[in-house]
Amino acid sequence: MVYDVIIAGSGPAGSMAAFVCAKAGLEVLLIDKVRFPRNKPCGGALSVRSQQVLQSVGISLPPEIIDQVISGIEFMGPDLKPFVARTTQPLAKIVRRSLFDDYLARQAAAAGAQFIDNCPVVRLETSTDGVVCHTNQGKFSGQLLIGADGAASRVARITGLRGPEKSDEIGIALEVDVPLSDQVWNTFLNPSILVVWMLNIPYGYFWAFPRKMSLSLGLGGMATGFKNMRNLLKGIAQMFTTQKGLPSFALHGIRGHMLPLFKHQRPITSNRVLLTGDAAGFVDTFSGQGIYYALESGLLAAQAVINVIKQNQDPSKSLDQYSQLVQLRFGEELRCSYSVARFIHSRVHGFIQTGRRLKSFGKVIFDLASGNTDYYQIIHNPLRFSVSLFVHELQHRIHRRT
Ligand SMILES: Cc1cc2nc3c(=O)[nH]c(=O)nc-3n(C[C@H](O)[C@H](O)[C@H](O)COP(=O)(O)OP(=O)(O)OC[C@H]3O[C@@H](n4cnc5c(N)ncnc54)[C@H](O)[C@@H]3O)c2cc1C
Repeated sequence: MVYDVIIAGSGPAGSMAAFVCAKAGLEVLLIDKVRFPRNKPCGGALSVRSQQVLQSVGISLPPEIIDQVISGIEFMGPDLKPFVARTTQPLAKIVRRSLFDDYLARQAAAAGAQFIDNCPVVRLETSTDGVVCHTNQGKFSGQLLIGADGAASRVARITGLRGPEKSDEIGIALEVDVPLSDQVWNTFLNPSILVVWMLNIPYGYFWAFPRKMSLSLGLGGMATGFKNMRNLLKGIAQMFTTQKGLPSFALHGIRGHMLPLFKHQRPITSNRVLLTGDAAGFVDTFSGQGIYYALESGLLAAQAVINVIKQNQDPSKSLDQYSQLVQLRFGEELRCSYSVARFIHSRVHGFIQTGRRLKSFGKVIFDLASGNTDYYQIIHNPLRFSVSLFVHELQHRIHRRT
């Protein structure tokens, strides 16, 4: 059988693409290297924008997948004086990636995609007519292939779309889940607040994200910036324990994962292959967020595939349109995220001081998380951004006085 589309990787990018293609009536094969449900090192913060993309295709998350609802961020800089920026509306939901990714893959299967896990792509043959995907469970043929196989994408490498990255384009993050009892939670921590400490970590930060009965602790940044990342994570975690008055805990099962840093847009299509999500390098260099870009690019790639199969559109034209749409939707914003990371990390102290003083800092964070604004708009129209900030600051202060 020749599938309309084969999708390699069933993280958020792959499952979203599979769901949309299957809903449109295409013959879809979704495969993943490992057995599902699988864990993926991740903070699991699902921004407002990510939730909006899911809603736009009719996927709603059942309550058991959502660990916490977030409405503020505790920041701390090298001066070790934390402050909390609160938002008036929920900023993000925290999900457990094992459950979230499994749920999305099952949604794609329920929509009609054939889902095979424990099935890594090992080799590819591409031609102008189609793609043959060799896996440990045999070979599969398709008209098109979506590479959604994550940061170390084999599809991207085999097709030559990604070569060896430059050292300033590779990020790395370590994550560990720390179980905490309910009592400890309620006494020492606020489950609606994310902790983000920017302690002169190159292009990165330490985080503590609340889960239902545990904390996701982690550390991420530019790969070349770390000498002994594990020890650094343990040291900062110890500091966190002391600062919050928590009973001390050991860090078991620390896992690392590559994180692409988006310095510039690279080719994301070639000869019947489209890259999405981390495989295409779509991660916000400043915040480290990638789930939104994975979902959005999965959706756009699906629409390009549907145009080829259903509208009989010329594949090369449709693939070009995919690249253009990505560029239009978030390409500039991602490119700016690199400049923003470079700018802020060279002035962490100033950034933290400004954030602490601004009463409307929470609103800026919410606007970024919900897509009301983005780095590109802020950088390219600083006057508009400053005026809107000034107005909100004024409103906030007047409101406080009355
Ligand atoms: C520690 C850490 C914390 C993070 N925290 C956040 C956060 O809080 N919020 C946020 O928005 N983003 C976060 N990110 C980024 C986010 O995890 C990624 O951007 C997101 O998972 C990308 O989704 P994806 O579908 O492109 O790839 P992935 O989720 O990585 O999925 C890729 C899938 O492809 C499969 N695969 C790999 N190779 C093959 C192969 N050869 N054949 C078949 N299948 C294959 C893998 O098994 C995997 O299931 C974090 C990243 C890290 C490393």
